[in-house]
Amino acid sequence: MQVFGLLGNPVGHSLSPPLHEAAYEECGIDARYVTFEPDRDALEAAIEGARALGIDGLNVTIPFKQDALGLVDPDDLAARIGAVNTIDFSSPKPTGHNTDAAGVRRAFAHHDVALDGRAVVVGAGGAGRAAAFALADAGMTVDIANRTVERAHELAEAVEDASGHGLAPLESLVADADVVVNATSVGMKENETPISADALHADLAVLDAVYSPIETRLLRDAAAVGATTIDGGWMLLYQGVAAFERWTDRDAPVKAMNEALRARI
Ligand code: NAP
Repeated sequence: MQVFGLLGNPVGHSLSPPLHEAAYEECGIDARYVTFEPDRDALEAAIEGARALGIDGLNVTIPFKQDALGLVDPDDLAARIGAVNTIDFSSPKPTGHNTDAAGVRRAFAHHDVALDGRAVVVGAGGAGRAAAFALADAGMTVDIANRTVERAHELAEAVEDASGHGLAPLESLVADADVVVNATSVGMKENETPISADALHADLAVLDAVYSPIETRLLRDAAAVGATTIDGGWMLLYQGVAAFERWTDRDAPVKAMNEALRARI
């Protein structure tokens, strides 16, 4: 039996176990997906222990994504993003990857949104970094708007084809944009939104990384003006799909995984 899992703290409400176990069942793979909650100072021991025990792969979530980078051999994208959310133990030294970026890219692809033109990423934390690199690597011109403007500038410099801003110019940036990603936690509380409804328009595709609630005010406002809307469940689904495909070297059963996720979201 293969063993995969998730390192985070806390991980009690994670949707990754049903997401991955639905894939094992659909593909007839004898595997389990287990959550682990090590102390914050025990990450290195946890990764080394997992390797020693023959665990096949681990996802990594808050608060360990940045620290994990220094404990594995990261690929180029994970190193540029500065965070690892997937560890592969198939090499002697564990390798680190970031499938949140693939989650963003494939969520747009699933909705037939072409990634060209201008993108606005609101937020410069973990999700914002993954989104900014994904969209810039796809060829988009990226504007990053963040409450703490220094973080937006720092991310824009790392991405290169990007500009950093505070939140003040957000509405005018959105007016010229083709794609918007909300990568802040704004929207988790009922009726809050990072972008005023007036700024939204029908030519936009809007991805909200927030998945709790699944239908945020931003997505309701965007749908009301005729924009394409993509909820955070799609990003969550496709980061898991990308991790599954890396670990198993086979195509993921996307439909079964999505059904398992939507049943619990
Ligand atoms: P994070 O690293 O803590 O970053 C949080 C971001 O939100 C920062 O840019 C922060 O700005 C901004 N922010 C927080 N409160 C704000 C407020 N009141 N007004 C304006 N900006 C505010 O968190 P994260 O991991 O990137 O997660 C962000 C969101 O994405 C969460 O809701 C998370 O659940 C979601 N997410 C979804 C997926 C998925 O697969 N769908 C994956 C990852 C994350 P400052 O820099 O100014 O603090």
